[in-house]
Amino acid sequence: MKGIGVSPGIAIGRAWVLRSKKARVSGVLLADEDAVEREIGIYRIAVASAVASLEAMMGKVGKAEAEILEVQVELLRDPQMEEDVVAMITGRMPAKDAVLKVTEQLVQIFVNMDDDYMRARAADMQDAGMRLVKVMDGEEDGAGMVGGDWIVIAEDLSPSETVGLDHRVQAFATQMGGATSHAAIVARLRGLPAVVGCGSDLGIVANGDLLVVDGEMGVVFVNPDDEVIDIYRSKKETYAERQQLLLRLKDREAMTADGIRIQLLANIATARDMEQALEQGAEGVGLLRTELLFMDRERLPTEDEQLDFYKDILLRSGGRAVTIRTLDIGGDKPLPYLPLPKEANPFLGYRAIRICLDRTDIFKTQLRAILRASVFGKCRLMFPMIGSVQELRQAKDIVAIVKEELTASGAAFDPGVPVGIMIEIPSAALTADLLAKEADFFSIGTNDLVQYVLAVDRMNEKIAALYDPFHPAVLRLIREVIGQGHRQGIPVGMCGELAGDPQATELLLEMGLREFSMAAVSIPAVKEVILQSKCI
Ligand code: PEP
Ligand code: MG
Repeated sequence: MKGIGVSPGIAIGRAWVLRSKKARVSGVLLADEDAVEREIGIYRIAVASAVASLEAMMGKVGKAEAEILEVQVELLRDPQMEEDVVAMITGRMPAKDAVLKVTEQLVQIFVNMDDDYMRARAADMQDAGMRLVKVMDGEEDGAGMVGGDWIVIAEDLSPSETVGLDHRVQAFATQMGGATSHAAIVARLRGLPAVVGCGSDLGIVANGDLLVVDGEMGVVFVNPDDEVIDIYRSKKETYAERQQLLLRLKDREAMTADGIRIQLLANIATARDMEQALEQGAEGVGLLRTELLFMDRERLPTEDEQLDFYKDILLRSGGRAVTIRTLDIGGDKPLPYLPLPKEANPFLGYRAIRICLDRTDIFKTQLRAILRASVFGKCRLMFPMIGSVQELRQAKDIVAIVKEELTASGAAFDPGVPVGIMIEIPSAALTADLLAKEADFFSIGTNDLVQYVLAVDRMNEKIAALYDPFHPAVLRLIREVIGQGHRQGIPVGMCGELAGDPQATELLLEMGLREFSMAAVSIPAVKEVILQSKCI
């Protein structure tokens, strides 16, 4: 099966099929009263078993997590839920379909409530309902998936599902998605081979099928013969040897053959990524995607929780610069507890800095945490999705207010934290000369820039061939932004995926780019090209 190879490496293992909600609905009606009785029994047993496993888990986790699990237990035991599910089964709907339907209705009720606390219960309801369904499908918590070397097969994966993949998972392949979808980005951050956009053919894969995933060529083999397996075993070894060879470059300075020093930085999302970045020789962090901290949880992180996270990363950086990007949710990164309105074009909608300038409560909390953390290292602050000088001024005004408040409250922070922006919207690229007068640095976000310049959705596998970072329109804009930034005397980096593509390295060097930020695994291969290139 052919898809889009989005994260290199080869994996050989057994399929672990994650079924979407839609694929779990049977849609058939129950034949008779006996079937109704049986399905009500199945539902009751599933509730008892889910409650028992939640209660067992509560004994093993901390207080805050136990409280969340307790809420789920209450929801599962809720008499209203039971009444609704039983009524639907009596109306001849299978138990699983009934649970999915009732869950959906209850989630909608919670989402539409005025009270913030009750709105946040939507995510708990969703989790509780899915837990029941998984119990009915006999797959709760990956039950039955013993041993290692699993390859996850899914219709699609969200960024937080990708982050949360079991450590036994060696690779994944999905039906949907494009090269710069966030699941693909997280795969590269974790060094997991991945193929996305395989189309609906992938639906034939069954749990336990033997698979080979080639994340470079974008190919998935299902139950291949021995010859293919032998070829891929040896390819896997060659790949590992080459990675080892490249790692020897770790401590070499990234200097072109004609003596120009280049900064190689890492894109990270977690403290664990920071470790990996240092292992691969990163000289700092060009992009800390903070949204993953916000995604993998049940409610907004508090100021102190955020402070701990940023502080930890700054301390681990050993004095290297860390560029912290403010929240970039929306698009393909929803937050379960912050229901955003359904939009026809989420990538053109309520996203990133647009949400932050509207929800200043969320923005200010994050800015306070970042500024308070700034005393623990070399911190840079960066705004995503800036589209105009006015937006940048608005965001900077809020930073100024937060600084005043921190000063008034006696909290320590570094007053000189550089404030930069991502250039990822064509309007920003075309006004780079104006923005450069008011920003301390630029970082070119090619993932979004390409989709907006070419009018090609980065998530849509059907038009993936049109998503071309080497299109002259994109390259002209990149050259323009680098030139304008340098003319105004500010540093210009790139943190979109193009920065980690060794095939683009020479071209970008020639355009004047001197700061490249990428998934840590890509650093050695890009360094290899830099060592052999000449800028002049
Ligand atoms: C980009 O758009 O290039 C970028 C780095 O940000 P993200 O991929 O998180 O949208
Ligand atoms: Mg972006």
